[in-house]
Amino acid sequence: MNRSFLIGTAAVLASAALASAQSSPYPAADVHKLYQDLLGKINAIPLYDNHSHPGFADDSDVDAMAAPPEESSVLRLRDDNPEFVTAAKSLFGYPYDDFQPEHAKWLADRKNAAKKSGSPTYFDGILDKLNVETCLANRAFMASYLNNRRFHWVFFGDSFFYPFENRDQTASTPDMGVYIPLQEKMLARYKKQMNVNELPLDLGGYEAFVRNTMADNQKRGGVAMKYEAAYFRSLYFSDPPREKAEAIYAKYRSGGVPSAEEYRVFQDYLFRVMVDQAGKLKLPLHFHTAVGIGDYFSLHQGHVLNLENVLRDPRYHNTTFVLVHGGWPYEKEAALLTAAKNVYLDTSFQSELLYPSQFKDVLKQLLTLFPDKMMYGSDAFPFNDALGAEESFWLAAHTTRTALAAALSELVSERAITQDKALELARLYLHDNAARLYGLSSTGGAK
Ligand SMILES: [Zn+2]
Repeated sequence: MNRSFLIGTAAVLASAALASAQSSPYPAADVHKLYQDLLGKINAIPLYDNHSHPGFADDSDVDAMAAPPEESSVLRLRDDNPEFVTAAKSLFGYPYDDFQPEHAKWLADRKNAAKKSGSPTYFDGILDKLNVETCLANRAFMASYLNNRRFHWVFFGDSFFYPFENRDQTASTPDMGVYIPLQEKMLARYKKQMNVNELPLDLGGYEAFVRNTMADNQKRGGVAMKYEAAYFRSLYFSDPPREKAEAIYAKYRSGGVPSAEEYRVFQDYLFRVMVDQAGKLKLPLHFHTAVGIGDYFSLHQGHVLNLENVLRDPRYHNTTFVLVHGGWPYEKEAALLTAAKNVYLDTSFQSELLYPSQFKDVLKQLLTLFPDKMMYGSDAFPFNDALGAEESFWLAAHTTRTALAAALSELVSERAITQDKALELARLYLHDNAARLYGLSSTGGAK
C-alpha cells in the first residue's frame, strides 16, 4: 500500500467534511430555491403579534397618545406607497390602483359598515386572512368589537408619571402640548376606574393607587403594561431615595408647578415602584424603544441603552421587560440587552418602516444572537378612514415573512445553519417565544 496515497485520501476526505460544516461568506447557487421552500413553510406558521394598535380610525382608544402637530413621515409609510394598494386588494379585493379620494371612499365605506355592525368577526377575519393566531392590542382601553380570545390587552403606565400641575411639561415642546393633556385624561380615567376622587394624601397612598390599578387592569385581561415614556422624557431612570419622592409629592399634591428636576426625581422613584409591582404580578413591562414620530422626538433620550441599569439590576430579575420595536436604529444594542434572562424584544414598527431587503439583514443578525428572545410584532395602526390597521397588519406580515425567509435561506446556503435549524428559529420568532412568555394556550383565552 502506498503510504503517501493514504495520507492524500485522508486529506481529501477531511477537506470535504470541513467544507460541508464550514460557513461561507457567500450564499451558494441554491439560495433562491431555499428561499422559495422556506417562504412556503414560513407562511404556514401562525403569527403571534407582540405589538399592535387594532381598531377603527376614529377610535381614540387605539393609543394613549395622538399624532403630534408636525410629523415628517418616512417614505414607506406615506399613503402613496403602492404596497398599500396591494394590501387593500389582497384583503378586500379593492378594485382600484390608487387612493384617489373617490377611490379611497370605496375602502372607507367598507370599514364604516364593519364598524357600524360592531361585530368582532371583522377583525378576527383580518387575522385569519393573514394567518395571525394571537395579537397583543396596545390600547388605552379595549373595544367591544375586538374578540378578547384573539386580541389581548396591553394597557399603559405613563399617566401615573403626571399627577401634578403639568403646565411646564405641556409647554416644553409643541408635541408635549398634545401628549401631556392626553396623559392627564388617562390618569383621570384610571382614578375613576378605581374610585379615587382626588389625589391620595401622601406618597404611600399614591403608590397603593398605582399598584392597585395595575392589578385591576390585569384582572380585566391586561397581559402587559406599556410605557411610551421615550416620547416624554429620558429612558434613563435614576434610583432616588423614597424620602425625596415623598417630599416632592407632599409639596405638589394640592398645587404648584414642580421644577423639571423635581418631576424627574418623582417619576424615577415611582417607576421603580411599578417595576417592583410588575414583578409581583408577573406582568411583563413593554417599552417603546425606537425612534418615534414627531419632529421633537429625542433619539438621545429614547436610546435603548438608557434602560441598561434597570434591565441588568439583579433586584428586578423577577420582572420581565420587553423592548418594543427592538431599539431601532440601535437594534444591535437592544438585541445584546436580551442576554439577560428576563429581557425580550420585538421587531414591530421595523417590519413596516424597513423594506424586506433591509429588514432581512436585521433579522440575520438578531436571530443569530439570542433567538429565544426575539418576537414578531406589527405595530399596526389606523392611518386614516381608508388606510386602516388592516393594511398595516398586512404590510408587517408580508415584510416579516419575506425578510425572514431571505435571512434564513442565506444562512442555510452559507452553511451557517441547517434547514431544520432555520425552521426552528422561524417558529420561535414568529410564534413560540411570545406564546411561552405570555403563558397563553395556542387557542388564546385567558391565563
Ligand atoms: Zn405602537
